[in-house]
Amino acid sequence: MSTFNVINPANEQVLAQLDEDSAASVQEKFELVRKGQKAWAAIPVAERIDCIRRFDLLLSEELDKLAQILSEEVGKPLQQAKNELNGARGRISFFIQHSEKWLQDEWLVTEGSTQERISYEPLGIIANISAWNYPYLVGVNVFIPALIGGNAVLYKPSEYSSLTGLAIRDLLYRSGVPENVFQVVLGGGGVGSYLLDLPLNGYYFTGSNKTGKLIAQRVAEKLVPCQLELGGKDPLYVTDEVADIRQVAAAALEGVIYNNGQSCCAVERIYVQEKVYDQFLTAFLEQVKELKVGDPLVEGTDIGPLTRKEQLAFILDQVQDAQNKGANLLYGGFRIQQPGYYMMPAVLGEVNHSMRVMQEESFGPVIGIQKVESDQEAVELMKDTSYGLTAAVYTSNKERAEQILRQMNTGTVYWNCCDRVSANLPWSGRKDSGLGSTLSFSGIRAFVQPKSWHLRG
Ligand code: NAD
Repeated sequence: MSTFNVINPANEQVLAQLDEDSAASVQEKFELVRKGQKAWAAIPVAERIDCIRRFDLLLSEELDKLAQILSEEVGKPLQQAKNELNGARGRISFFIQHSEKWLQDEWLVTEGSTQERISYEPLGIIANISAWNYPYLVGVNVFIPALIGGNAVLYKPSEYSSLTGLAIRDLLYRSGVPENVFQVVLGGGGVGSYLLDLPLNGYYFTGSNKTGKLIAQRVAEKLVPCQLELGGKDPLYVTDEVADIRQVAAAALEGVIYNNGQSCCAVERIYVQEKVYDQFLTAFLEQVKELKVGDPLVEGTDIGPLTRKEQLAFILDQVQDAQNKGANLLYGGFRIQQPGYYMMPAVLGEVNHSMRVMQEESFGPVIGIQKVESDQEAVELMKDTSYGLTAAVYTSNKERAEQILRQMNTGTVYWNCCDRVSANLPWSGRKDSGLGSTLSFSGIRAFVQPKSWHLRG
């Protein structure tokens, strides 16, 4: 069996060496869950939810240890790792509270000669091919409702968050989820593609647009559900009607920089109305300078290393491209010369849409800030993207905000907030940002199929 190394991005040391799955071992895992899924589906939903309740309890009891593993393997500051675990627990609690309601039979006609009802049946065995940036959050969006819905899951964590994937597996087993219902598949993209060779009943992918499209093509011929949660190039617009520009700058900065910008819904482009542009820029730069870049395990660190080494060169290239085309590098934008994948966050002014930094997903600590004359210009620029995940506007004028947000072709819109996900609301990308929804009632129903009953007694 071949192995792969888990590297700590904060010091480039090997954290662990893990066995990589092969086509044969993935096939074995598939055969195992094929045997277990029917028995799992046959137990009452409430019992499956009880397992998830125990899982949630274990997450809370072992939070510090799990946060440390996560922080070491992906480089996020320890406090942010804890926040992620708590955020995941919030989502789990949504599923615990609401799943029974959305999975129970619905009677549409109960009188007359023909009665009609809908029941919701599991899909069977699903693949959960996942990303590393928020392994708990994007993981629980899929494997929790899939398990509650009576499915078996072949879970492939990203090769960059495999230790977390293994920790999740162990906690699920200790919570009562049988081994023949949940299996972890470890390795990189090649291992992921073994899952595409299997006759699974659904594919749920979180990751890049490039891989997502490839997966959708491979899955198309199977005619089974294929959901994709992909990237974004999310805009934020600051109008000239804001009460406290410093506060708006702080919120925008957090949207850019939280998790080192490695968030699908990170703020990736900022447009500012010309009347408040200078004030905004001053407040933004003052605050970016206060951020501490350093060891993610040290308290008070705001920004750790990037998770993947290759991303450093990619982001620095975007910065260089912008500068070549006339942008002004106002802060940072260079690799910190020490072990680990650290860079100073980059703030670019005088940007425009000919620059890659305003078009391609950056997925890192870099932001372009562009001046606009009017709402109309802002709307046109915000819409000038192949992505469609989120869009935000800051203004004290609600009508103005709604007028702007109605024009956005994105799955999510924000008024006076950004970079936010709620378990109550469907999480879905449009265009290049994905297909289908997780979370909310639609994220419960995404893992079951309706059966329509026409009953004449
Ligand atoms: P990625 O596409 O490189 O990898 C995602 C997963 O796919 C990994 O598990 C990887 O091993 C696997 N994979 C790669 N090639 C494969 C193949 N040929 N067949 C099967 N599996 C394959 O993405 P990433 O770097 O892990 O994640 C970052 C991206 O994810 C960003 O674009 C980000 O915006 C996006 N993302 C989106 C959301 C969302 O909710 N919309 C959430 C988190 C991350």
